[in-house]
Amino acid sequence: MSSFEYNQAPLRVVFGTGTLSKVPAELERLKAFKPLILCTPEQTFQAEKVENIVGSVKGITPVGVFSKATMHTPGNITDEALEFLKSSGADSLVSIGGGSTTGLGKALAVRTGLPHVSIPTTYAGSEMTPILGETVGGEKKTRSDPKILPTAVVYDVDLTMTLPPGLSATSGVNAIAHSVEGLYAQNGNPIMSLMALEGIRSLATSLPTIVSSPSDVPARSQALYGAWLCGVVLGNVGMALHHKLCHALGGSFNLPHAETHTIVLPHALAYNAPAIPEVMQKLAEVLPGSDEDAIKGLNVLLTKLKVKRGLKEFGMKESDVDKAAEIATRNPYWNPREIEKEKIREVIRRCWEGEEARADL
Ligand code: NAD
Repeated sequence: MSSFEYNQAPLRVVFGTGTLSKVPAELERLKAFKPLILCTPEQTFQAEKVENIVGSVKGITPVGVFSKATMHTPGNITDEALEFLKSSGADSLVSIGGGSTTGLGKALAVRTGLPHVSIPTTYAGSEMTPILGETVGGEKKTRSDPKILPTAVVYDVDLTMTLPPGLSATSGVNAIAHSVEGLYAQNGNPIMSLMALEGIRSLATSLPTIVSSPSDVPARSQALYGAWLCGVVLGNVGMALHHKLCHALGGSFNLPHAETHTIVLPHALAYNAPAIPEVMQKLAEVLPGSDEDAIKGLNVLLTKLKVKRGLKEFGMKESDVDKAAEIATRNPYWNPREIEKEKIREVIRRCWEGEEARADL
């Protein structure tokens, strides 16, 4: 076994069904008695439920709900939330939602030093990472800081039951993408690889069931568990070509986050395949229907999930392919295979067109 370094971040996790009822105990552990609750406008109903649960416990008085969390953490929303937070006298943050809400919680926590209890409701995995992407003046900038990592995370399977099947599918593939890249990360290690493979296996087996039967509790539980593991991988090791492509495409052409990850993943993996034969073999073992071919396994999974396969379906123009290739190959992340601009252009063109991925570049 080669030498490696492994860091264990101090992050407490509560996992299960009905765990929302444990949020007050988590706040008490942190000596936090005046939480500000964060959500998107669509999830106000869930935030109000949290407000009622924590507010019914003697000694805890929520200061209110800030319900304007927005994708890609825009600076103006963070500023508004910060003002609300300061005037409210909050001593802690509770975020309930997907990566957008977790992002707002992180942005506020890193600015104020307040403890942050995160209650994730998608499979994006942001709650497990010390990474924060913020958008100011149309440009998304990402930074990493241990202070960004939430203080505690409460996973409640019940909250994921309302995640629509389509978003469950793409959010789940977004999580799988973290683990796929974790398997060939420059700073990868055997512990992260264990988590990555178990996370991919959990999601690849449960997501098709969720799409056909969205209220299947064991499948929802398996998917959330998988998403947790994939989030740990994202937070611990570096990402490569796939994430670079998604950041370039999402940031420059206003493409939706999870859907973009879903379209790009098989193509990015196909590009890297010649450089990572052992990873391809391990991946094939955890992807049902792969016939020992991980690319086929991903293609089979995406077909079962009935997801959109082409970026053109989200409004990207064919004339943007060249610009995307330019942006994606500028300051590339470390990658197991050398980045060749013309080939990356072809990867992006295939993603745009919605072709099946194939390892022939
Ligand atoms: P999201 O948080 O934007 O949620 C998408 C929509 O689904 C929102 O309207 C939300 O309210 C709704 N929703 C979420 N959970 C729901 C539920 N259980 N039931 C019904 N509706 C629900 O989407 P996302 O994909 O989770 O997050 C995307 C954002 O997270 C992006 O900005 C991305 O950059 C960021 N992200 C960051 C990291 C990181 O480590 N920093 C990791 C992953 C994603």
